[in-house]
Amino acid sequence: MKADDVKRVMVVGTGTMGNGISQVLATKGYEVDMVDVKQEFLDSAVATITKSLDRLVKKEKITEDAKQTALARLHTGTDLGVAKGSQLVIEAVTEDLDIKLDIFKKLEQACPPEVIFASNTSSLPITQLAAVTKRPDKFIGMHFMNPVPMMKLIELIRGIATSDETYGLVKEVSLKLGKTPVEVNDFPGFAVNRILLPMINEAIYAHMEGVATVEAIDEVMKLGCAHPMGPLTLADFVGLDVCLSILEVMHKGLGDPKYRPCPLLRKMVQAGYLGRKTGRGFYDYSS
Ligand code: NAD
Repeated sequence: MKADDVKRVMVVGTGTMGNGISQVLATKGYEVDMVDVKQEFLDSAVATITKSLDRLVKKEKITEDAKQTALARLHTGTDLGVAKGSQLVIEAVTEDLDIKLDIFKKLEQACPPEVIFASNTSSLPITQLAAVTKRPDKFIGMHFMNPVPMMKLIELIRGIATSDETYGLVKEVSLKLGKTPVEVNDFPGFAVNRILLPMINEAIYAHMEGVATVEAIDEVMKLGCAHPMGPLTLADFVGLDVCLSILEVMHKGLGDPKYRPCPLLRKMVQAGYLGRKTGRGFYDYSS
C-alpha cells in the first residue's frame, strides 16, 4: 500500500487528542471513522470539532464551505467493526496498557492484514502493543502533540519490528496533514516526554520544597528560558494524571530514580486536581 491509497482513517478514542486528530484528518481530505465507547462522547467530540472549525472560519483561515465539507467527512460509531473500511487506524484511547492491548487484539480480528495500526500513546511501549497483533511490521507510534490542530510535530516511533514501508507511508501521511514527522526509537517516554517530563517534575519539586511560588516558577522559565508557557501551566494543560502516568512509565521502564514522580504531583492527582480539565491544578480554572 502507498500513502495515496489511504483515503479512510479510523480514530479510536475521541477525547482531547482523538477529536483533534479527527479534525486535522477531515480538513485534509480523509474520510474519518470516529469510534468511542458511548455515542454521547462522539457527539461531544463532533461538537468540539465544530467549534474549533467555527473559530478558523471566523479568523478566515478556512471557508464556511471547507468547514461543512470537513464535517461531512466525519462518521461516528461505537463498533470497532467499521475498521474494515479504513486503510489506517489511529488509536487515541485512555493511557492504559490493558485497554490499549484489548483494543489492538480486537482490531486485529476486525481489520484486513494490510491495514496499518498507529498508536498515539504518550509513553507505552509500541513494541509491546504491536506484539498482540499479527502485524508488528505494520505497527507504529504516531505521537501527535496537544492541541493537535495547532502543533506541528508528530513523533513517529518505530517499534522493534516496524518496517521501512510502514514508516515511509505514515511519514508521508503525516506530511499530507501539514505536520512535521520526526523519527524516534521505542524507549520509555520516547524523545519529547523523556526530556519534558523531568523538567515538569523538577518544577513541582521546586515548588514543593518552597524554592518559589507556582507563578514565580512559570515566570522564570518564560522569561529566563524563552519558554512560551511555564512548566506548571503546561502540566495543568497536559493533565496532572497524564504527567504522573508518563513519569511512572519512565520510572519503571528505565529503572532510574531520577524519574521518581514528585509526591506533590501524586497527592494532587489523588485529590482529583488534574489541571484544566477538572477546573483545578496548580492554578484555579473554576471561573
Ligand atoms: P481523553 O481521556 O481525553 O480521551 C480518551 C478517550 O478514549 C475517551 O473519549 C474515552 O471514552 C475513550 N476510550 C476509552 N476506552 C475506550 C475503548 N475501549 N474504546 C473506544 N474508546 C475508548 O485522553 P487523551 O488526553 O485524548 O489521551 C488519549 C491518548 O493520547 C493517550 O494515549 C495519551 O497518552 C495520548 N496523548 C495525550 C496528550 C495530551 O496532552 N492529553 C498528548 C499526546 C498524546
